[in-house]
Amino acid sequence: MQLTILGKYGPYPKAGGATTSCLVECCGKKILLDAGSGSLSRVQEYCSLDDLDMVLLTHLHSDHCADMFVLRYAPLKNTLPIYLPATPAHEHDTLAACEKFEPADITEALTLEFPDTDLQISFCKTLHPVECYAVKFCSEGKTFVFSGDSRYSEHLTDFCRNADVVMLDSGFLKDDKPKKILPHMTVIEAAQTAKTAGAGKLLLTHINPAYDEAELLCEACEVFQNTTIVQEKRQYTI
Ligand SMILES: [Zn+2]
Repeated sequence: MQLTILGKYGPYPKAGGATTSCLVECCGKKILLDAGSGSLSRVQEYCSLDDLDMVLLTHLHSDHCADMFVLRYAPLKNTLPIYLPATPAHEHDTLAACEKFEPADITEALTLEFPDTDLQISFCKTLHPVECYAVKFCSEGKTFVFSGDSRYSEHLTDFCRNADVVMLDSGFLKDDKPKKILPHMTVIEAAQTAKTAGAGKLLLTHINPAYDEAELLCEACEVFQNTTIVQEKRQYTI
């Protein structure tokens, strides 16, 4: 299983960057996991749009799905399966109405399987202001979980149990925590999630450009040593 990070920033990118998106390649499939701003340009550095087998959208906030609205204008040889939450209705219905897409709603009951492979993809609802799902990929004895966006959640921690790699929303430093109810984990909560789940490696994503990455990494490593902040256009093999 290979991840190519197309965008790691949220809720907005820094100069030259992109917001959340990742190309997952596994069992011969190419799956676009979220499609934040800048991702449509980036993904074409690795494959043609016609090579994509499907798009999975964790949720319909713009920093995770903006370029799907641009993808509507691209010529595609075949209809593209897209899996997305049913709400918010305006964003869902706008994407679902595009005749180039084959839309299907994500639920926790959904498991995607692929003929002639052992790849399984499953979903877990997270705590976020809009309907959002973490995504788990399992194949050839390896497991990768991407949180989408979430506050700290025991349900998400259970979903990450024993994963080889978890890529988690890390929107805040701990000093920002007491100010309000946050829509994202702090880096310490992300690290605590990885530690409690018994994950092998933590990739931090949803990086706010206002933060110093060294400071984010330092906070995480106090709790969970095997942590990396993802780098755009870097590939990670699981
Ligand atoms: Zn969000």
